[in-house]
Amino acid sequence: MKQPEIPEPPGEFDVRPLVRQLSPYAPGEQPKGAGWIKLNTNENPYPPSPKVLKAVRAAVDGRLRLYPDPTASTLRARLAKLHGCAPDHILVGNGSDEALALAVRAFVEPLDSVLGRSEPARATVQFFHPSYSLYPILAAIHGARPLPVRLDPDFQLPSDDQLAPAGWNRHAALTLITTPNAPSGRGYGRQELERVCEATSGVVVLDEAYADFAREHALPLALRGSRVLVARTFSKAYSLCAQRVGYLVGPPPLIEAMGRIKDSYNVNTLGQTAALATLADLAHCRRNLRRIIATRERLRRELLGLGFEVAPSEANFLLVRPPGPPAEEWLSAFRRRRILVRWFNLDELRDRLRITVGTDAEADALLRAASGVLRRRA
Ligand SMILES: *Cc1c(COP(=O)(O)O)cnc(C)c1O
Repeated sequence: MKQPEIPEPPGEFDVRPLVRQLSPYAPGEQPKGAGWIKLNTNENPYPPSPKVLKAVRAAVDGRLRLYPDPTASTLRARLAKLHGCAPDHILVGNGSDEALALAVRAFVEPLDSVLGRSEPARATVQFFHPSYSLYPILAAIHGARPLPVRLDPDFQLPSDDQLAPAGWNRHAALTLITTPNAPSGRGYGRQELERVCEATSGVVVLDEAYADFAREHALPLALRGSRVLVARTFSKAYSLCAQRVGYLVGPPPLIEAMGRIKDSYNVNTLGQTAALATLADLAHCRRNLRRIIATRERLRRELLGLGFEVAPSEANFLLVRPPGPPAEEWLSAFRRRRILVRWFNLDELRDRLRITVGTDAEADALLRAASGVLRRRA
């Protein structure tokens, strides 16, 4: 049957005001061409295991015409075994970024839908500041209320007494915690995270993108409670940024809710294959983790020796306050020497640089460049 034509009022086919006004996430630069030392996006400097590359190559054939396993069931079963839980505790995402977006969409009301009611907590996405700069953007995209809660200058978590003065909302629908913290690298203990989780009645996602570089992780909190999820990624510690595979571990009712709203085929076949092959050769990743941690500690000592302030880090990056010229000038000075690092134009971070821990050779190049900058000024 032919639909009656409804004339559109002129100007109504337009980009939504929310989208027009949105400041999108600014990813770190991915330079074209060779010869760059990339210490700006926390990628792993070591390639995936040869067994992973072989498995991915072997999966590139006529089967590319088929849709992927919609629920990544083999990968979920393998991850469940790794973490000592059942597969219904696990949701795999197209990177943990997608998993975080699903959490916002599943657990947070858009502000419009709570207008006129007194308590906007149902529409609140709470997170510590500074932490992962994607969180406020996910809230904004959803039309929810972003609620930053300030960390102290050492990036420590607030004590119970400090939470309320810092602006903490005990009923926020969703709280996102980067642990270890980014961009500082500060690690948090399981007990203090548990204390913070207990200070809210809403859902909490512990974003453990860097947990493999840290002393402690908080996975048990996601397996015991009813409101805590842990987000993990194959990107950083497992050298698979390009494949976009991350996952959430947590209570089955929350996992099931997010599964309802995800894209049917959210994780591509080669990504699932690469993740499975990675789990079959964890020894390769553990070796690289040990090397990265050793390089991190050496780079920290040597930067301290050059007069940099360096926050202690339990991640694969260092947050530094450079001596001499402003951090933004250091960014350009490194860039002229084909070294990319990250600078954040935020009040709390403007005088800092975030430097990814690369190989030992990359650390040496960075240290040579830094000495060069300092000599030129002397
Ligand atoms: C890199 C990063 C992510 C995203 O990881 P993907 O799995 O590559 O999407 C999530 N959270 C934090 C804190 C990160 O640094």
